[in-house]
Amino acid sequence: MRKTGVFYHDICGKEAYSSLAMGVEEGFKGIEKEGIFREPNVTWYASEPATEEEIARLHSQEWIDHVKQTQWWRVSLYSVGGMLGATEKVLKGEIDNALVIAGVGGHHAHRDNAWGGCYFSVISLGIPHAREKSLAKRFAIVDTDTHHADGVRDLFKNDEDVLHICFCDSHSWVYDSEDRMESKTKLCFPHGSSDEEELRNVQREVPDRIKEFKPELIYWLCGMDTHRDSYGTAALTEKCYPRLAKIIKRAADEHCNGRLIVKTCCNAPPHATSYAMPRIVACLAELGKYPEE
Ligand SMILES: [Zn+2]
Ligand SMILES: [Zn+2]
Repeated sequence: MRKTGVFYHDICGKEAYSSLAMGVEEGFKGIEKEGIFREPNVTWYASEPATEEEIARLHSQEWIDHVKQTQWWRVSLYSVGGMLGATEKVLKGEIDNALVIAGVGGHHAHRDNAWGGCYFSVISLGIPHAREKSLAKRFAIVDTDTHHADGVRDLFKNDEDVLHICFCDSHSWVYDSEDRMESKTKLCFPHGSSDEEELRNVQREVPDRIKEFKPELIYWLCGMDTHRDSYGTAALTEKCYPRLAKIIKRAADEHCNGRLIVKTCCNAPPHATSYAMPRIVACLAELGKYPEE
């Protein structure tokens, strides 16, 4: 069994970006209701707020000051703080893997601007945090949200110690081709139009690249706007997310000492997030609780 941490603060559920994150609180409550926090190897850590200094590692002071004026400031701090806490605990070996439930997105955040329910680059900020503490240097980010991760791609475009595997729609209207430049460590692949096709695509493109790259930590952005009742590809059922977790966890176990952090902002309706979240945690912690699924 693995030691698994769940990082979440009530503020992330109550103050979640409203038009995106439909099922944040219900996602967390789903884990509680299934009794998963009673398991000895699963711990809920209340996310702490990140500091301005921690956010300034990747974002400009002008942008920080701008977000400070919005209603998304506080939920952004707690969302990033959960990610920093998870990164530290996994890399120090206090836990093996983690789920971070944020109240905002992150992958459309650049150094000094953002869009689409994103303010700061939640996952990306884990990387300079780990490096500054000399905990790790080399990272993989797997992004299965519907949309292209233009912000993350931009922040790490010259960083060969970051493998970025992004599943997105290559013909989307929301970003321009400049952002999509690809290299051996920066890749985009199409989404599937069904659970089976999505799982096949991730299985084909992710594990071998992780094996070759040898990251010290894997981040998986589990976007849920691919769910059939959400606003993205609308292709997947809730059953797909725990199955994606299995593929990515196996890659982490085989090629990265099991070190995996899953980040989600639960951007799908409550019935989907309350189903998927407990099953993702059960997968991470190897509870064997849902063998039939
Ligand atoms: Zn999205
Ligand atoms: Zn992409």
